[in-house]
Amino acid sequence: MKTKYFSYKINSLPKGCQYCIQGAKVVMFITGLCPRNCFYCPLSDQKYKKDVIYADEWPVKNIKDIIQEAKLIDAKGAGFTGGDPLKKLWRTLFILKKLKKTFGKKFHIHLYTSLNLINKTNLKKLHQAGLDEIRFHPDLFNKTLWPKIKLARKFKWDLGIEIPLIPDKKSHTSILIDYFKDKVDFINLNELEIADSKHNHLTRLGYTPRNLYSSTVKGSAELGKYYIKKLKNTKINVHFCTAKLKDAVQLANRLKRRAKNIKQPFDQVTKEGLLIRGAIYLPELKPSFGYYNKIQNIKNKKHYLNKLKKIKSQLKFKTYLDEKKLRLLTSQIDIKHYRKQIRSLNLVPAIVEEYPTYDSLEVDIQYI
Ligand code: SF4
Repeated sequence: MKTKYFSYKINSLPKGCQYCIQGAKVVMFITGLCPRNCFYCPLSDQKYKKDVIYADEWPVKNIKDIIQEAKLIDAKGAGFTGGDPLKKLWRTLFILKKLKKTFGKKFHIHLYTSLNLINKTNLKKLHQAGLDEIRFHPDLFNKTLWPKIKLARKFKWDLGIEIPLIPDKKSHTSILIDYFKDKVDFINLNELEIADSKHNHLTRLGYTPRNLYSSTVKGSAELGKYYIKKLKNTKINVHFCTAKLKDAVQLANRLKRRAKNIKQPFDQVTKEGLLIRGAIYLPELKPSFGYYNKIQNIKNKKHYLNKLKKIKSQLKFKTYLDEKKLRLLTSQIDIKHYRKQIRSLNLVPAIVEEYPTYDSLEVDIQYI
């Protein structure tokens, strides 16, 4: 029952999870708007209740960006999430149809939503647009909307529920599982994690992390294993998805897929899919506290680009202009070899290890 992906299952995994584990699903964040206010909401402050759109880490502006991201990870599908994608139904349908049209019918799309916003009409629209799998996040503490699951059962798609494992809410969770277990195709149970955001109240309510290095909530994994044991002789498909699966398998696989497609000839790709490269920073744009926000909101971008282009032409070795992060990139060998020349031009040479994602998040910087 333990999978080789650090999770636990009974019977089979939903198709959406199978692709997700391969890192082959674009995380399509439709909107941060949501009709609910869950105290354990994992959204970041940048996304919570904000109408923003992301394809993986990319704050996308149009459908071209979304298709590009799908190509960059060699996607076999997408998971539509939020917030609640149904808060922006038109947008959800538009992206769904475009992805199906571009990548074909087999491009697997699953969607997370609460039960709050569904009705016969919008479910029909989602089904007609080609949605393959729908996952509901029912309110653990209020049963009023639970019977709405019957509306979704009328359509031919894979139907499931997905809930967090809140350690001291075992009785609520058991009641919910009992209610839904013969009404859906699968039940997904998620290990609960504490998010570093204003609206995540887990710490204030007394939930503690498993240990100093972890954001997973103490007792959550035990509750997951309890249900796996309890339901093991039933016909229902159950997946207890751990935080380790998300980080060490799903994200890592997606990074490797993207690294393969975006790496420059001079990049070294680690076995985790991170890129190690040489970087040349302007002193005023050197990474420090608040760097990502600074780079994103820079006003005189043209000025910096011109400055970098001029420097690029002066250097005796090959560099690549990174227009997004306003820096020059090169190989580790060249950055080491020419570091004195770089410093003499009042520039900052460094070796960086970073994610191959849209935001190129640095995990390590060594100034040399
Ligand atoms: S339904 Fe999801 S996105 Fe909305 S508040 Fe709850 S956890 Fe957050």
